[in-house]
Amino acid sequence: MNKTINTLSFKAAPILGGSTDRILRVDLSTNQLAIQELPPEFKQKYIGGRGYALKLIWDETDKNTRFDSPENLLIMAGGPLCNEPKFPGTGKFIVGTISPLTGSFMDSNVGGYFSSILKACGFDAIAVTGIAAEKCVLIIDDDRGSIRLVTAPVVTEALENGGIAYGENLLQTYTGHQLHKNIAAVATGIGSETTAFGLINSFFYDSQRKRLRTKQAGRGGTGTVMRFKGLMGVIVHSSQARSRGNNPADADGVKAAGSALAKVIRNEDPKQLHLSSWGTPVLVEYMNNFHLLPVNNYQLGQTEKARQVFSGVFLEKFLKKKRADGCYFGCNLSCAKGAEEVTLQYGPRKGLTVGIDGPEYETVAAVTGFGIFDPQYTMEYNWYCDEYGIDSISTGVTMAFIMECWQRGYLTRSEIGYDLNWGDIEAADRLFHDTALARGIGKIAARGVQHARNWIGRHHADKTGLPLADVMAELTKFAMESKGLEFSMYISRESLAQQGGYGFALKGPQHDEAWLIFLDQVHREMETFEMKTAALKWFPLIRTWFSAVGLCKLPWIDVRHPEAEKTDNPAQNMPSFSLYIQFLNATTGSDKSIDDVLRDSERLHLLQKMLNLRQGKGTREFDRIPLRAMAPAFADEYQTREAYYDQWLEERMDQGNGIPEGIADRHQLLVDLRQEAYETLCDSVYKAKGYSISGIPLPETLQAFDLFDDRALQVLQAHGLSSGLKN
Ligand code: SF4
Repeated sequence: MNKTINTLSFKAAPILGGSTDRILRVDLSTNQLAIQELPPEFKQKYIGGRGYALKLIWDETDKNTRFDSPENLLIMAGGPLCNEPKFPGTGKFIVGTISPLTGSFMDSNVGGYFSSILKACGFDAIAVTGIAAEKCVLIIDDDRGSIRLVTAPVVTEALENGGIAYGENLLQTYTGHQLHKNIAAVATGIGSETTAFGLINSFFYDSQRKRLRTKQAGRGGTGTVMRFKGLMGVIVHSSQARSRGNNPADADGVKAAGSALAKVIRNEDPKQLHLSSWGTPVLVEYMNNFHLLPVNNYQLGQTEKARQVFSGVFLEKFLKKKRADGCYFGCNLSCAKGAEEVTLQYGPRKGLTVGIDGPEYETVAAVTGFGIFDPQYTMEYNWYCDEYGIDSISTGVTMAFIMECWQRGYLTRSEIGYDLNWGDIEAADRLFHDTALARGIGKIAARGVQHARNWIGRHHADKTGLPLADVMAELTKFAMESKGLEFSMYISRESLAQQGGYGFALKGPQHDEAWLIFLDQVHREMETFEMKTAALKWFPLIRTWFSAVGLCKLPWIDVRHPEAEKTDNPAQNMPSFSLYIQFLNATTGSDKSIDDVLRDSERLHLLQKMLNLRQGKGTREFDRIPLRAMAPAFADEYQTREAYYDQWLEERMDQGNGIPEGIADRHQLLVDLRQEAYETLCDSVYKAKGYSISGIPLPETLQAFDLFDDRALQVLQAHGLSSGLKN
């Protein structure tokens, strides 16, 4: 029987205009449960979601706080626009914390019913601090009016090792085996104990499929933080989840904006990306066509074999056609695909038949990163990542890096215990489970690419007597991380805009801050340097807003409104975005314009930048990206697209000056030009954002957003800037 550690009685606060102005505080060191009432100004300034997480972490941690410090916060927060079934894509919430991978602020967004039920329970957010003496579970039950902290349920050893199985067990224990849509949970898996990139599974009951489904807060090790705190899961329950709704100021206005966006999706998605039919794996074909699909640790961007993992293959073999698969009520883009009854052929659960939620594009591309184009293996990699509770992107990129270290002789068979040839499923699978459980060479991989690069570099320098700096410089060329976070799954080397999208992303190279690859490389909508600079300021602000209000970005960015082509900047899809502004104003009762939204968002973006700086990061050197993200890392990669790169160089040569003869010289010239372009982009984007050339916000920039206080001044001074002084 689970032991009750502490309880708190409560009555749900009413939802008014999308917010409750309440946070549930949980201190696991003292077992305290408390309700914090927020003044209305709090949401006006920090909105919700990522904004709440940023403000709480800025206020309550300091420069010495690490992911495993007791004072580190784990925040789960939706936003004022989440929980509105009359508008598409409103089931998102973010998990925010100080990351084990980057040492700075991380947020990861996830769908499911968790945040809407949490809001129905009367909370805009949960903020967890401390470290529990005994593994525990938090249960927030609106129907019973109780919040309970209990010891974690005792489960069999096999279940204990599994993220999905653990979450299912948790919910079944609590509900008496009757799952339903008014109860949801978040939980971690064993991979959150063994790796630095543990994720948080968000469980919700799909009444169509009659089973629990999962979505993941995948990036940056939020699950690792949760598990380190001893929090095994959080359950939320409210039978009023849907009937309470979001209580908007103008319900008709919300309905009108939502119907208009749903109509755009219904009419345009079947003519555009077909996300509703095929899910995000539809991107595999686009990325392969444009040399953007990561193959063999991003060495190649295109291969004939990729057609074996095009979306149609998954649809035919694993996914039921024409099923509406939303991760929240009311989303008619319905991209959250899933497969029933897949029998595993690999790994420790071989022979087990399971339901699999996915794959998403990123998971397919993680596996092509090993040179593997086998849809069955991709599905299994997807399932095991969720079961272990590890990020499929960080896991895949780190494994691919280890495989390339083997390819280039930095690691040998005797050191690894087996060969790691590209495309070898048995070998990749062995490395995968070793990584998930931190065994053998997997112990190095389990802490991410940055750690693996540093360890392998030292190991190789010791072994060969080569200067450490030289070894590290070589490894850094193909170690696909920046700020400590592994790159997401787009080859950026032919897109200066996406290089900036990755390099300037405040949490590290995840595309959710500036996914410009499609607009730049596929649509060709930002050809000039000025357009790229403007996009690198505008898109991160809009995308920050989505993560603060509790919305999915896909219905805006992946379905172009038919009127967008008539606007000055079709890439911004302003006719659809204006529906979001209508939705915001109708929900909260505000009268905001696009400029107001951008301003609100810029405040949060600056606060995140200040957090990075306070943690000793955030300056220009931290915006550097590996060579392979901007150019072929080695001359033989140049050779794989020699004609293309030769032409690229010729177009940039002064008249009469031909390109050099030798491949090595042409490769070096290309590298020099690409690095120069990236540095110029840094100068230009920093200026547009009101930063110094070192990438630090100027005092007047902070002042304009009411962020220039004593603490901000201290951070600036620590980086050599002081009030009124431009650097
Ligand atoms: S577009 Fe996809 S991820 Fe976004 S809310 Fe809809 S189903 Fe979920």
